[in-house]
Amino acid sequence: MDADKIISFESLKSKVGRFNLREKTFLIPEMNRIGGYLLAAAFRSFGISAIVLETFKGLDLGKEHTSGKECYPCQITMGDILYFMQREKARLGSSFNAENYVYFMPESNGPCRFGMYNKYQRIVLDSFPGLGSLKIGSMSTGDGYSVTGLIEKEKVRSLRKAGFFSQVVADIMDRALWRIRPYERTSGMAAAFMDDAVKIMSAAFERYAEAVDLDAILKELEKVLAGARDVIDPALPAKPLIGIVGEIYLRSHVESNQHLIEVLEKYGAEVVNASITEWLNYTTYDRLREEKIALHLALKQFKFAEIKNRLKNIAGYGLELLYQQKQQDMAYRRARTVLDVAEDHKVAGMEKLLKEEGLFCFDVGTEACLSIPGIVEYSRHGYNGVVNVYPFTCMPSTLTSAVVRPIMNRLKIPYLDTPYDSSVQPGREAAIRTFMYQAQQHFRRHGRNGGGKQD
Ligand code: SF4
Repeated sequence: MDADKIISFESLKSKVGRFNLREKTFLIPEMNRIGGYLLAAAFRSFGISAIVLETFKGLDLGKEHTSGKECYPCQITMGDILYFMQREKARLGSSFNAENYVYFMPESNGPCRFGMYNKYQRIVLDSFPGLGSLKIGSMSTGDGYSVTGLIEKEKVRSLRKAGFFSQVVADIMDRALWRIRPYERTSGMAAAFMDDAVKIMSAAFERYAEAVDLDAILKELEKVLAGARDVIDPALPAKPLIGIVGEIYLRSHVESNQHLIEVLEKYGAEVVNASITEWLNYTTYDRLREEKIALHLALKQFKFAEIKNRLKNIAGYGLELLYQQKQQDMAYRRARTVLDVAEDHKVAGMEKLLKEEGLFCFDVGTEACLSIPGIVEYSRHGYNGVVNVYPFTCMPSTLTSAVVRPIMNRLKIPYLDTPYDSSVQPGREAAIRTFMYQAQQHFRRHGRNGGGKQD
């Protein structure tokens, strides 16, 4: 092996990880639009210069620097960062220095490929002259997305709380958009309303996040949601309710899923997508679960030092999960007094449901742990159809499809798999129209109270 290759592997350790963000520009790739903007605003509240990367404009660059075998989100985010860097270089000329930026690309412990995105992107960035010093800031599901090391020690807890809360609020705002857009008084009114709302809530996070003044943030949110109510035309009748599950990036990133929710709405749906917070709660829940399993083993083997350690970790993750769910419950409770946005699932309830139905096991991991019970819950709550959204060849979503398809057939609830890559499939819109025709039939027969029973 030559020296260059050894250096590039070293770079996976030394330039991918948790880095102090002071004096840097923190670059956040856009996944769900509102979530990205509120997260950046929360970081700015702590004095960190955080911005959301423009997305999808660099897709050609992303494709040029991937082989085509990577997951689609890896190609898109690769393009986003290369495009931004290219433009920064052009804007700043000789004063451009990649060292001034930290690019955010979290990872997961597997078993799928998400843990490899930042390693792959590191290798590509190292191959560009001048981009080798751009650090990749990574957080992992392995420690429940800890933010230790990004900021001064005494601010770590506040940053974590504010970051988490930004995603809860973003989920509620997304749900508000999906609640009002199918019933808007005039075309485009909901989108314009939400553009302003994002600015208002970003300003609220900038002002209140550092002090973790969640009450002040929620007061702003209540005002925004009260305005959202006015977008709805009360004369319009209820529409079939469609639930979305799937791979987190594809189902949240509207360009990559070719504006799926809007297309469903065009054919008469009201849609609820799975939330981002669901994934954040799942990662904490899963760490807690793993610690409990490890404790059980340590007890059997009388490993006292390890028992002590495991108990400490269980208390830590347990409190974290409790805190997250408490904040989420509070935010939804207050939001729902103003606008009837859809409630979110509880991770413990999802694991219980999987066990009851004998469908899947949390031991396997991945988003299938959330998508499979998510679909069953939608069915039980009277949804008129479910769509599974994912990148072409995505392992957990293909698995989800294999498990739930026979169940949906038995329950006679319309179900659609929608895999995406950068190509536009000619029959895609026809498939969605057919699915929506079936959902309309289901809605006519059952209203929104089908409850997943057989016809
Ligand atoms: S969840 Fe799917 S798209 Fe995401 S890394 Fe895993 S296989 Fe790829």
